[in-house]
Amino acid sequence: MKTKALLLITFIFSLITVNNRTMAQGHTFPELPYEYSALEPYIDAQTMEIHYTKHHRAYFDNFVKTVTENKIEHLSLEDIFAKVSAFPAAIRNNGGGYYNHMLFWQVMGPNAGGQPEGALMDAINKTFGSFDRFKTEFENAAKTQFGSGWAWLAVDADGKLFVSQTSNQDNPLMDVAVKRGTPVLALDVWEHAYYLKYQNRRPEYVGNFWNVVNWKRVAELYKEAVK
Ligand code: MN
Repeated sequence: MKTKALLLITFIFSLITVNNRTMAQGHTFPELPYEYSALEPYIDAQTMEIHYTKHHRAYFDNFVKTVTENKIEHLSLEDIFAKVSAFPAAIRNNGGGYYNHMLFWQVMGPNAGGQPEGALMDAINKTFGSFDRFKTEFENAAKTQFGSGWAWLAVDADGKLFVSQTSNQDNPLMDVAVKRGTPVLALDVWEHAYYLKYQNRRPEYVGNFWNVVNWKRVAELYKEAVK
């Protein structure tokens, strides 16, 4: 009887522990919406697995640890980013790493690529002149980001699209960003995102990104952002 009770307590405790590892006050480590190999041959399975299970996981775990220590675990990511300069650097770096990868996984997918449709395509044509000119501007942002960082397509406060680049794990939602807005497309240009397959050939990785962009998801994010 005693053993059974002890086993039950151990079982319940293990459930709580597992739950704490993946969630803290609504901050959840997201499921990867496809297999590690789903983006082959453009992004290899080994890179995806390490990127998701090691890099993204570490940002999430450290973010949860840091917001808990600073007693701001009740704040949303958006609220934290809006005044991120007031918080310790660990919150900026790990919160950015947590959010940026969550978006990155969503805006890619298997059987993707091509071009956007509808309101998003209209806005791209209006802002950049053409889809090809947008692609060139985005690729330039990704290729010229010095060192680690990200390239973005985002919507500003007036509902207008813009392309930008940020260093490290910063993003356009942060008060430290040069251009502020709501991201709808993200490209990770840290070496950990491409080095196993592309080594130093970042431009090739950037060019191949178009084959895996999930424009349907990007269009949904755009619709939300201009609301
Ligand atoms: Mn990354």
